[in-house]
Amino acid sequence: MSLTPPTQRALALDASARVDDRGVKVQERALRTGSCPTYAAPEVRGAIARYRATLASTWLVRYLQAVAALATVALGVGLGFWLVNLTNGESLSDGLFFLVGFVTGILPGAIVAVAMVRGDRRFQRVACRNLLLGIGRCPACGFAIGGNVRPMSDGCAACGECGAAWFAERIAPITVDEADAWQTARVVTAIQGASQHVSGRRDARGRRVVTSAGLALPRHGPWSVGLRIYYTIMSGLVGGIVLSVSLAATFAVSMSVVSLIEWPKATAFLSTSSLTAVTLLVVLIPLVFLVPIAAATTATSWLRFVALRRASLCPACESPIDDAGASGLTVECRFCNAVWKR
Ligand SMILES: [Zn+2]
Ligand SMILES: [Zn+2]
Repeated sequence: MSLTPPTQRALALDASARVDDRGVKVQERALRTGSCPTYAAPEVRGAIARYRATLASTWLVRYLQAVAALATVALGVGLGFWLVNLTNGESLSDGLFFLVGFVTGILPGAIVAVAMVRGDRRFQRVACRNLLLGIGRCPACGFAIGGNVRPMSDGCAACGECGAAWFAERIAPITVDEADAWQTARVVTAIQGASQHVSGRRDARGRRVVTSAGLALPRHGPWSVGLRIYYTIMSGLVGGIVLSVSLAATFAVSMSVVSLIEWPKATAFLSTSSLTAVTLLVVLIPLVFLVPIAAATTATSWLRFVALRRASLCPACESPIDDAGASGLTVECRFCNAVWKR
């Protein structure tokens, strides 16, 4: 199976990612159970690994998103307090202060946070579309169209199931066997979860790759039951220790910084001391959560990385790596194109 890069014409149409290659509106992601390829095929795993790497953000980006969301909440709460204070003097009860601050602050903060986590939906739709066309599937319905690509006069081939039309050169050819074998919906979960990945790892070529940090080794690997249990216990232990130590460390550092803050009155919005205090909290709170999670994830994904490489599996897509992709000191995974040191 060869993968088809999108053409310039298709890329221009993808700017909206709401229409097919003839410009007709399509409902994407309405993929039905049973019409999607199984996650187990190495070609599909490779395509999903590339898709995940395209969407993955870094820990720094996640941290900045959390800081921005918290800052919005803090700003809203502060403005609420300030407004109430401005209109009613100091006679208002704390309960009303809190209510107004809560409504004006939490709501926009929550909206900003959700918008940031959802990320660029158009970008995701385009990547998802390229992923499905790249494994010979119709992006609108998931039906296998790569087995029988017959372009019409406009260069498009129509999906036999839903009628959406795609440029023939974008559709990767697949055999009938491949189409029959890829019949479960697990890939839908993989596609939908792809935008949630955070990656700190790069391959030997310097491209970002997402490696899994799961406690269990891949089911299709060559390990014995005993080795699998040993690995799960070891990575659980290492992950737990790293999590506890980094949690204690960030908490201790945060508490000592917090103890240095000169706490202002709640009503002293826009005073130097309140701005300093709020800024320090907004910067610190995400660190207390993210640093331990990042440390534990890095530790367990490193263990898994070593185990996969020793078993000659690609750490990004977990497919077998053979010497066919080797050149000099590196070897390229033929399923996801990640490059690893030999
Ligand atoms: Zn279709
Ligand atoms: Zn791979």
